[in-house]
Amino acid sequence: MSSIDDIKSRVDIVDLATEAGVKLRRSGRSYTGFCPFHSNTRTPAFVVWPETGTWRCFGECNEGGDIFKFVMKREGVDFKEALRRLADKAGVQLEEFTPRQQEQREANDHLRALLEEALTFYRGHLLGTPAGKPALHYLVEKRKLTSQTIETFGLGYAPQGWDNALKHFTAKGYSTKDLSDAGLLTERTSGEASGSSHQSAYYDRFRHRIMFPIRDAEGRMTGFGARILDPDDIPKFLNSPETPVFTKGHLLYGLDRARKPVRAADQAVIVEGYLDVIALHQAGYENVVSPMGTALTEEQLRLLKRFSRRIVLALDPDAAGQKAILRGLDAARASLDREEELRFDAHGLLRHEARLQADLRVARLPDGLDPDEIVQQEPEEWARLIAAAKPIVEHVMDTLLADGADSPKVKADIARQMLPLIDDLATPVERDSYRQMLARRLKVDERSLVSGQPSGARPVRRGRGRVQESVATAGPPPGPVVAVSNPARRIGAALLAILLKYPELLPKLDRTLQESSLSALTAADFEYTDHQAILQLVRRAQEQDAAETPHYVLENLDGQFRELYEELASQKLDTTQADKLQAELFRQVVQVRAVALTESINQLRFMQEDAQQRGESVTGYQDLVLEHVRSLNYLDQARKKSSAYRKG
Ligand SMILES: [Zn+2]
Repeated sequence: MSSIDDIKSRVDIVDLATEAGVKLRRSGRSYTGFCPFHSNTRTPAFVVWPETGTWRCFGECNEGGDIFKFVMKREGVDFKEALRRLADKAGVQLEEFTPRQQEQREANDHLRALLEEALTFYRGHLLGTPAGKPALHYLVEKRKLTSQTIETFGLGYAPQGWDNALKHFTAKGYSTKDLSDAGLLTERTSGEASGSSHQSAYYDRFRHRIMFPIRDAEGRMTGFGARILDPDDIPKFLNSPETPVFTKGHLLYGLDRARKPVRAADQAVIVEGYLDVIALHQAGYENVVSPMGTALTEEQLRLLKRFSRRIVLALDPDAAGQKAILRGLDAARASLDREEELRFDAHGLLRHEARLQADLRVARLPDGLDPDEIVQQEPEEWARLIAAAKPIVEHVMDTLLADGADSPKVKADIARQMLPLIDDLATPVERDSYRQMLARRLKVDERSLVSGQPSGARPVRRGRGRVQESVATAGPPPGPVVAVSNPARRIGAALLAILLKYPELLPKLDRTLQESSLSALTAADFEYTDHQAILQLVRRAQEQDAAETPHYVLENLDGQFRELYEELASQKLDTTQADKLQAELFRQVVQVRAVALTESINQLRFMQEDAQQRGESVTGYQDLVLEHVRSLNYLDQARKKSSAYRKG
């Protein structure tokens, strides 16, 4: 249990309110009294629910929350202070959270400092030793890199031998653990021969290779990519292993230098190799990055999209390679739902494109030429190729039709591959246009191209209808209805889980809400202080561009919310429905508001009856009920009108 949950379970909201001087009277499952936050009127409009540990003022404040919010409002303190006071009261020892985070941060800084030193070490071997001559020769003569470029990208050479880096850095006071954590060493498996007499358990990971330092978008060292010099060595490319600072799928090579040019050009170009990135930068095309020799991940596209939504993939010119990608299409489709890292396939890319609202295009490079060869021959040719990039569906169509489509069997085969892609397009206009284009190019009647699963009639999961119904039938069941399972908390968590994963949906959600004449998502939509804090951080994350939203939230999050964060971040989202997430978010906001209003109405009616039985005035409650019913009706109208809601 987190400290927060621990405190929540130990501090009774009824006690808390009573101690604050509120005279509470039990009525059903709730307690009512005069609000401590606004000057008293005739009607007791302050309610606390011991079961959920929450409170609400239906009067002037029209506000509520949990125990933390109560103390924050009552004492005028921030969350940290409220937490400290309530922990004291509950006798809960607050786990010192910041030191742990601080420790991790310091450990990472230590690794980065070591990696910076490693860069210097490898560069020294490239430029200043006889052993580095062949590597330098390769870069300058074969790859035509200038010494300025070599310096700018910090290229280096890892010397032959098992323990050069090991000895060098151990002498400088680094431990083998440091070196291993930074990914510079590899652990020896038993039985392996050692090159040195004193059988160390570790040896240099990088040996006789050209070294490419890899930095994150902020320019911090994260690791290395390494390329062979001896054609017989394997593997051709070797990266740092996954370390606390190096996660392949979250990094793009060259982005630290490309981010500004990408923004300036409002376009990013993805190529496949480190040397291609370097050659293109040298030729003046600085908006270029590459993945780390692995499949392009959505995380990488998301990272890039912070700087531009227009992204061009400059693909492997090897036509066979492209066919292989296309052949993998069906396999990729089938595995898509299970794999976290999506493959470099057209279907996956289309999904990314729709989900990220990006504009993904594919540039076809001339057969047999790498990007660096193209710019060496004629730098302007690169600009022309990129300008001619085509949308993914068109590119796939071109590739499949490259060998012609004369026989009915080949036509059917191509249609079978193309139609699912077309169905995946975001808008009906695109779907129609490409179906027409396909019919034209296959020389078949468009009507014959009706896919098995028409795009408009894809199966939609139902089953979240319960609260929708409660919007329509808001009539009050007897007694206050405050579900112990707490739907508000559940829906709040679901909302945040989506927003943490797809933060770019937040402004769209706000817009959709406003288009439906509803207010944007605010902290008030969440009943619990921890949920509110996370929403506020997601909002703040969007006002900066130094860090990815989840990272930003995590770094700025009060340590006590960490468990909640991890719980939210690890929630499995149904990615098959990812393009529907926007509608889903809208639905959830409406739902959470409807639940809150319905509960309020029930509570107020209950209080009204209670007052009536005691012969007290009920006009205050009647007005409040009316007001809430009006809001609920309004919400219901807006929901019905909204196309975003219907679409889902
Ligand atoms: Zn009040």
